[in-house]
Amino acid sequence: MPEVKQLRLSKNRTDTSNLKDFEHMPETGKIAIVTGAARGIGLEICRELLDAGMTVVAVDIRPELFEAARASLGEPGENLDCRQLDVTDSKAFTSLVDAVVERYGRVDVLVNNAGITRDGLLMRMDDADWELVLKVNLFSAFYGTRAVSRYMVRQKSGSIVNISSYSGLEGNRGQANYSASKAGLIGLTKTTAKELAGKNIRCNAVAPGFIETEMTAVLPQQAKDMALSQIPMKRMGSPRDIAKAVCFLACGASDYVTAQVLSVDGGMHT
Ligand code: NAD
Repeated sequence: MPEVKQLRLSKNRTDTSNLKDFEHMPETGKIAIVTGAARGIGLEICRELLDAGMTVVAVDIRPELFEAARASLGEPGENLDCRQLDVTDSKAFTSLVDAVVERYGRVDVLVNNAGITRDGLLMRMDDADWELVLKVNLFSAFYGTRAVSRYMVRQKSGSIVNISSYSGLEGNRGQANYSASKAGLIGLTKTTAKELAGKNIRCNAVAPGFIETEMTAVLPQQAKDMALSQIPMKRMGSPRDIAKAVCFLACGASDYVTAQVLSVDGGMHT
């Protein structure tokens, strides 16, 4: 386990250079697993958790993205452990969690972030697109949650954060599969929270609105304009907006928060 960082408190109260370390001290040495971590929101979640002092196991189906991800994170050395995983593979997910605990001795945080879209009106949606989206976005979170909770129960601590969506709260034309998967995550979140609260394991969800990533970059301009017109704050969110909320829920700062869905969407969902 990484050494606990030495904290030097400055006598000069205007010198805040050490404040970040001070605020984040309790997270040092924690082990986090983040799925879909090689780009977009997942990558920013890794950045926040690393900044908080955690060791991050970043998993993604696309290992070719890891080099750029590592560079973007400022070469965090052994605090970042990149591993390939298809989160729809239940056995592989369980093996990954086992391997993480074997390597680091514990697992403190799981962020179920991996997600995809296969949009289309429901009358034309084929079974393959329905099933794939449910598998990647929802089934995976169950596999990961089950695997980490077995260790977290023994540790008597842990925090699980699921990345849902505004579409899961409200539904969205052309996204029957995606909305169903993201709504399912909310049910999974609340049930996990209720089953594991007595073991000091928390489970919460973040519901992003319209966020600037490669997932939304492919949308036609008309769809983007339509989405923007519905955001009270009149701007798309950034991956960092989401990552900050995830970090709060993953960290001790939210110790008494569980079974919640935190909308981070510029005021769309009320
Ligand atoms: P993205 O497409 O930029 O990144 C998703 C990452 O997940 C990619 O690195 C991809 O390789 C990985 N991934 C895909 N399938 C995988 C699998 N089977 N196993 C492991 N990794 C896999 O997407 P993003 O915009 O960063 O979205 C991240 C999460 O946030 C998703 O769950 C998404 O549904 C959710 N979300 C995004 C928005 C938005 O506006 N971008 C809004 C609401 C919710």
